[in-house]
Amino acid sequence: MEALGTDTKHGRCCVCMVKNKICTRKCEFAAYFPNEMQDDYEAATKLFGTQNIIRMMKLAAHEQKHLLASSILKESAAWTDDNIGGGYGVIQKLRWEIELHEASLSKIRMKISEEKKQLVLLSNQYI
Ligand SMILES: [Zn+2]
Repeated sequence: MEALGTDTKHGRCCVCMVKNKICTRKCEFAAYFPNEMQDDYEAATKLFGTQNIIRMMKLAAHEQKHLLASSILKESAAWTDDNIGGGYGVIQKLRWEIELHEASLSKIRMKISEEKKQLVLLSNQYI
């Protein structure tokens, strides 16, 4: 189904959809919240509210709007994934996973080191 009142490539942007507005080629939000990001934008709307997202985007310098839009969407995704810790919780989880992988890697490195020592001992026996 094609969105009504649009001349953008993939339909109305997320902001125009929520505001029930026509999304034109000159829409200031289409580049940052395209139609394909509806699920992500819905989470952002729940966390920040569309009016606050619009306000933040209008206050940001042009060269920082992509970073801001990305931050809004990532922070919202973090709160969707971890509704207690949000972004901090996601970072803590990633740190824990890194520590776990580092411990596993350390064990593998020790095993490799032991195998190399055994190889040297065996090589010395047959040379
Ligand atoms: Zn739009």
